[in-house]
Amino acid sequence: MVLLDGKSLAAEIKEEIKKETAAIIDRGEKAPHLAAILVGEDPASQTYVASKEKACHETGITSSVYKYPANISEEELLKAVDFLNHDNEIDGFIVQLPLPPQINVERIISAIDPAKDVDGFHPENLGKMMTGQQGFVPATPLGIMQLLERYAIETEGKHCVVVGRSNIVGTPVSILMSRKAIPGNATVTLCHSHTQNLGEICRSADILIAAIGKPGFIKADMVKEGAVVIDVGIHRIPDESKEKGYFITGDVDFAEVSKKAGWITPVPGGVGSMTIVALLMNTLKAWKMKYQK
Ligand code: NAP
Repeated sequence: MVLLDGKSLAAEIKEEIKKETAAIIDRGEKAPHLAAILVGEDPASQTYVASKEKACHETGITSSVYKYPANISEEELLKAVDFLNHDNEIDGFIVQLPLPPQINVERIISAIDPAKDVDGFHPENLGKMMTGQQGFVPATPLGIMQLLERYAIETEGKHCVVVGRSNIVGTPVSILMSRKAIPGNATVTLCHSHTQNLGEICRSADILIAAIGKPGFIKADMVKEGAVVIDVGIHRIPDESKEKGYFITGDVDFAEVSKKAGWITPVPGGVGSMTIVALLMNTLKAWKMKYQK
């Protein structure tokens, strides 16, 4: 079994980004700038935004965070988005999800300038991804594709099973795996909660991508011997015996599945690490689209 080490690969890519950013600054040009809008006090969202800030700091990308209370109105949040759309200093920004229930997420995402939408959630960027045009690919699917590409995992002609069809992970990664490109050219089956015979379908996968949101859902008897297993899930499981009071696990039963898989991502240190670095890649791309036309 080969561990698909997202943490080490992310460190390598960060070094590449750091060199590019240093060259930009050395030329006397403005460093790329990533901003984040953070609404409320959700601990997981705070952790994600802090990790993104840290990654920016490590790579020379300027970062800023705009914090708003959980009771912000949709109109006020739209104004905050509009402000960042027009702030020439900022090359790309994200609105950290989830948002509180009074906010219509689609409306907020659709208000982001597609040229600054480094999370790639705007319908224009999703459409560009569908049609193979230049745009921003959502960070988690982009991170997964980087992992496959840089580990030289063969995808052409393979059967890829994606479990989960969210707009941010499952559906976009299924499109990327089936597109006419490398990595890609796979035959893709997209599964969800209404899928029948899920175990059988998963067992036929050469590449199995789990984005379900249920800890340890993928068991060894759902995996083909030698398969590539990509675990997108992230769960904090309370555990008083741990220093932090919890441990992190994924959607795959790693202990059992790793005995059977040919390649597998760990959690933590797999897809999560790649997601952050993919966001930095998109930020650098936004900078290039703006200044290197
Ligand atoms: P989501 O929006 O909750 O979607 C979950 C998907 O799983 C849905 O399509 C759902 O089907 C499907 N599903 C649920 N139960 C199922 C079952 N029993 N059998 C088959 N399919 C089932 O989740 P998400 O946002 O994609 O996130 C998935 C996981 O990835 C979460 O643990 C999340 O924290 C993690 N995540 C990690 C990263 C990262 O950077 N590593 C990024 C994003 C998300 P229906 O559509 O039919 O409901």
